[in-house]
Amino acid sequence: MKDCNCIFCKIANGEIPSATLYEDDEFRVILDLNPASKGHALVLPKEHFANLFEIPADVLGRAAGVAKKVSEKLFNGLHADGFNLLQNNGESAGQTVFHFHMHLIPRYKGDTVGVGWKPGTLTDEDREEILALSRQE
Ligand code: 5GP
Ligand code: ZN
Repeated sequence: MKDCNCIFCKIANGEIPSATLYEDDEFRVILDLNPASKGHALVLPKEHFANLFEIPADVLGRAAGVAKKVSEKLFNGLHADGFNLLQNNGESAGQTVFHFHMHLIPRYKGDTVGVGWKPGTLTDEDREEILALSRQE
């Protein structure tokens, strides 16, 4: 299933050329056009899923396998010091292209990549609410 207005559908399916690091029947891994760091890549399924909640678990599992394989190559080949595997869902989480993708971001000592948050405090109320949620079927 392809969304005709989706740029990542076009890239993943080869209608728009891209710097491709890996391709198989189901996925394409490309270099990000506006990289956070040297080697920043994106894992794209060829089928259109908007986000984590639409992608089936088995496809997600295989995407993770592809992410691991390409990440290892980037990490070793680029002599990175660390690595972030990121995946954004929804505008408030930073998603700008609404076709599921995983970010592979090599990290280098002293780089300026901004992935982080200000640590909060887990309140008793939140803990109980969330634990109760997780117990629901
Ligand atoms: P998001 O913010 O949705 O998690 O990530 C979208 C990513 O796609 C961004 O890092 C952005 O730089 C990248 N991107 C957007 N359009 C294109 C494109 O046409 N080609 C490539 N290679 N990357 C793109
Ligand atoms: Zn798409």
